[in-house]
Amino acid sequence: MIVYAFEPLGFEGELVTVEVDLRRGIPSVDLVGLPDGAVKEARERIRAAVRNSGFEFPLERLLISLAPAGVRKGGASFDLAMALAVLVASGQVPDVGSPVLALGELELSGRVRPVSGVLSAIAAGLRAGVPSFIVPRGNLAEARALAGDSAYAIDGLFDSVRLAAALRGLGSVEAFRPQADPDPRLRPSPIHDTIRSEASDEGSLDGGADMADIRGQAGLRRAMEVAAAGGHHMLLFGPPGVGKSMAARRLAGLLPDLDDDDAVVVTTLHSLAGTLSERSGLMRRPPFRAPHHGASAEGIVGGGRSRKPGEISLAHGGVLLLDEAAEFRSDVLQSLREPLEDGVVSIVRADRVVAYPSRFMLVLACNPCPCGNLGRRGAVCLCSAEEIRRYWKRLGGPLLDRIDLRVPVKPAGPSELASGPGEPSSSIKARVERARARQLNRYGSLPFRLNAGIPASAIETFCALGSEARVSFSDQAESAGFSSRASHSTLRVARTIADLDEASRIELKHVNEAIQLRRYGDGDVYWLIP
Ligand SMILES: [Zn+2]
Repeated sequence: MIVYAFEPLGFEGELVTVEVDLRRGIPSVDLVGLPDGAVKEARERIRAAVRNSGFEFPLERLLISLAPAGVRKGGASFDLAMALAVLVASGQVPDVGSPVLALGELELSGRVRPVSGVLSAIAAGLRAGVPSFIVPRGNLAEARALAGDSAYAIDGLFDSVRLAAALRGLGSVEAFRPQADPDPRLRPSPIHDTIRSEASDEGSLDGGADMADIRGQAGLRRAMEVAAAGGHHMLLFGPPGVGKSMAARRLAGLLPDLDDDDAVVVTTLHSLAGTLSERSGLMRRPPFRAPHHGASAEGIVGGGRSRKPGEISLAHGGVLLLDEAAEFRSDVLQSLREPLEDGVVSIVRADRVVAYPSRFMLVLACNPCPCGNLGRRGAVCLCSAEEIRRYWKRLGGPLLDRIDLRVPVKPAGPSELASGPGEPSSSIKARVERARARQLNRYGSLPFRLNAGIPASAIETFCALGSEARVSFSDQAESAGFSSRASHSTLRVARTIADLDEASRIELKHVNEAIQLRRYGDGDVYWLIP
């Protein structure tokens, strides 16, 4: 019986074979294939767990070998597989007769603790044809999402005899695959998942976040609808307290549910990062992530010593908000360029390069100037033109150039505040879904699905303009000094606006609105980048 463990490597990873050899001799345990520091710990943990679960630890020369040896292994998720292999080799647990992938960290008591990365382990196991998966109970919902009925949950090592016997056909396996908890309230809602550690002056993480909470702000609301419909990146700028981050928090709520493929990828990333909660099956809602500007580059981009996906990958399929964007470290901001272009981030580690999917809608929110008062009625901005220029420059031209929609957010006026609730998220989402359906239909089997993803080479095909719109667009683009990237971005947005309008051709009004949404950045008072 082959016992597999799993070592995550970037988004995927490798199955690790756990072999145990027992020989007569002075009792000892040799463990090969693990880094030095971890060996001793693992050895003692397994020994204690085996004894405390009512088994005997073999009084023989024991060799536990993890293969392939070249793969650097870390973490405690190997415990269960190693203990199981020992128990099978010493005849205390029946041989199942077919390979088993076992994941779990052992407590000294013999109970198993949930581990991260279960979904990618299961995916690797399924590719290799492994028929049975043993996971801690806390990981069962996640494991079942891919493995279905071939995932079995245990509470501790003491369950392994009964489970192995059941897998051989001696008894019922049903006890090891309890149905998922039917209470929907127990399902976490990933939309509101966040690592923000500082309270914001804007918005809250309240579960009922809805666009109805935003009063007035017609321009902002429209830009959010366009962004959600076509998957475009946004910049929101304005004085503190006008609702920029409150709005950004509601953007993910306008996006349709993830399809099956995306749901697996998104859940796998969260599983690798260890951010999935128990009972969470596949994540169906697009995630929302809002890392604090003080977060490390490692935390945001991923990799490093944690060897985990970063915030930009946890936002895959959803929205990444960088609030107070100009305060982020410039290496972090610049590292967004690769994911914005390619939808993946590559992380160089000592031994290899790993890649994590990271295709997200980026929302940058920032104040218009260092003091925040620029453009605020009744307040005085004390910043010099040079300070404002330097402030904006921190974001970096190459990053800003990739932002399709630049939206000034002004404080709502008294009449706006007195107006009733805004249009709720549900009805905006319905229009977004219709516009997205048009895109899916148009792009069919092409490697992109949304207007934001139309490659430069396909702009002419999919963003063709009528003659009136064409003349007007080239005039305006020339006088605004649009780069070719800016022109393409504007045409993609125009395509989205036409889709929201259910128009098959991009007309003059669609182009004009797209130019309005792109306008800031070209000589505006807020935007003094040379
Ligand atoms: Zn100022």
